[in-house]
Amino acid sequence: MNISAIGQDSHCFEQDGSTKPLLLGGVVIKGARGLKGNSDADVVLHALVNALSGISGETVLGKITDEMCLKHGITNSRAYVERALATLGGARLMHVSISLECRDPKIEPVCRTIRESVAAMLGLPLLHVCLTATSGEGLTAFGRGEGIAALVIVSAEVKS
Ligand SMILES: [Zn+2]
Repeated sequence: MNISAIGQDSHCFEQDGSTKPLLLGGVVIKGARGLKGNSDADVVLHALVNALSGISGETVLGKITDEMCLKHGITNSRAYVERALATLGGARLMHVSISLECRDPKIEPVCRTIRESVAAMLGLPLLHVCLTATSGEGLTAFGRGEGIAALVIVSAEVKS
């Protein structure tokens, strides 16, 4: 049986003068302002973790990642993805669709690199990790450049 699940996350940008890097899908985006958060605030990976929880039914982002981050100092969101992958059991990932809402940074120049990074993390072919972005005509805080919102849909095959 094939199933799909959605995950969502958003973060606002750090203040002026912050040296925190921006990470999207595990990729450092050069010249961009970082996002606020206790972890590396990789909004793409956090939304992915939530989508993976939508497949497994086990929430990872929140209590578990807070403990990893605050108690054990694990701020690299790749570790949260690995934790979420470990909950999948026999489910086999098939396709990931990522949608970003932001004004900054421009996603087009880094789109392929982010896709490659997420595909490698999940062991999927590049064609099965897709990414689109919109500024939504500036109608929201994300479109006005205050932060980044991410939606991720994961499809998986599970034994029925
Ligand atoms: Zn987050």
